[in-house]
Amino acid sequence: MYAKNAWKKYSGKKLEELMNFNEGYKHFISVGKTERACVTEAVKLASEKGFKELKEYSTLKPGDKVYVTNKGKNVAVFVMGNQPVEAGLRVLGAHIDSPRIDVKQNPLYETSNFCLMDTHYYGGIKKYQWVTIPLAIYGVVCKKDGTVINVEIGDNENDPVVGISDLLIHLSGDQLQKTAAKVIEGEALDVTLGSMPLDGEEKESVKKHVLKLLKEKYDFEEEDFLSAELEIVPAGTARDYGLDRSMIAGYGHDDRVCGYTSLMAVLDTPASEYTTCAILVDKEEVGSIGATGAQSKWFENVIAELINLSDTYSELKVRHALENTKMLSSDVSVGFDPLFPGVTESKNTAYLGNGMCFNKYTGSRGKGGCNDAMPEFFAEIRKVMDDADINYQTAEIGKVDQGGGGTIAYILGNYNMNVIDAGIAVLNMHAPMEIVSKVDVYETYLGYKAFISKL
Ligand code: MN
Ligand code: MN
Repeated sequence: MYAKNAWKKYSGKKLEELMNFNEGYKHFISVGKTERACVTEAVKLASEKGFKELKEYSTLKPGDKVYVTNKGKNVAVFVMGNQPVEAGLRVLGAHIDSPRIDVKQNPLYETSNFCLMDTHYYGGIKKYQWVTIPLAIYGVVCKKDGTVINVEIGDNENDPVVGISDLLIHLSGDQLQKTAAKVIEGEALDVTLGSMPLDGEEKESVKKHVLKLLKEKYDFEEEDFLSAELEIVPAGTARDYGLDRSMIAGYGHDDRVCGYTSLMAVLDTPASEYTTCAILVDKEEVGSIGATGAQSKWFENVIAELINLSDTYSELKVRHALENTKMLSSDVSVGFDPLFPGVTESKNTAYLGNGMCFNKYTGSRGKGGCNDAMPEFFAEIRKVMDDADINYQTAEIGKVDQGGGGTIAYILGNYNMNVIDAGIAVLNMHAPMEIVSKVDVYETYLGYKAFISKL
């Protein structure tokens, strides 16, 4: 059903199922504060549903359930279809990295009785949104002896939190004359770690105290920050939003909301005609580059492995498989915000509550850099959505020349596969607290299931 409020379909048991599904999602983003944590949680969910790691299989047959990970930061799940892999897959691709503040390689310093930590933000953020809120530290510290230490500070109820300060209003006369882009500068996003000197130390005694605590709890030295990957993210769990509990407030909806719904769609759908897949990638917010981004050869390599275990291998079959694949680039879209109506064009924008959102194209300034999906492909999808009674809508990222954005769609499009952007509308995108509608989350999950099993 096109552009209609989806809540009207839900009452009684159906409404209960919708709410339960969203509880699962709230848990996923509450524990999945980093891409590594999302991979860990995804593997757990897949294992619970009988998925086994690819290397445990010596051959693959229809109905086999497989997961593969890459460097702890990507995961893909597959249910082998009745058709050979060469006939193409039905893929849902989302990203599990979210905008945040990363810790620099040489981060610690002491000044005016404080120990602070220097950072470099990751992805597009409005820097002023990240000050004076409780923040948590997540990630890994890798030592020369090969040990990988998992760091999680700020979300356990007995944990302290950290944060970034802002100027008091009383002295902000000069600051408030600046543009919003300059009110908080990138180099000023330094995180406060402590203020208590270590007994018996003269120089840098506060910093030494912090280092002593890190050594005691995590067993690493200051130099080990050189090979660490620590991310500063909002502290706290995802919460119901609105008195009617119709929405979810949380960190990282972009794009873990499409990550979770894509993952669960594949986990919950029995073997179909074509092999189904959900792939969760890293680095989308910084251009999808590198070994764990969508531009990596990893996915292509995994397809080659699937063909090798299910068929007689040939390079040509790999190329056929990729070219014959149909994919949804599962990423969030802009939700209409009644407080800022001017940035969108009302007929071509997504409204919270109207269900799954398709973006035929994204891009900016004359569709620049976008994957403009084939209309033949979207016509097929419209039929599947209507047959499955999915509420869906279509949108652009803002009105023409207002700005824009991109996704991983064009990267997989390079294999000559049909790809279209499809996901969930978000308010406050890239803010520490983003908002989605629970009915959109559920309709999108159902829409993803219909796409992978019926197209
Ligand atoms: Mn995104
Ligand atoms: Mn984004």
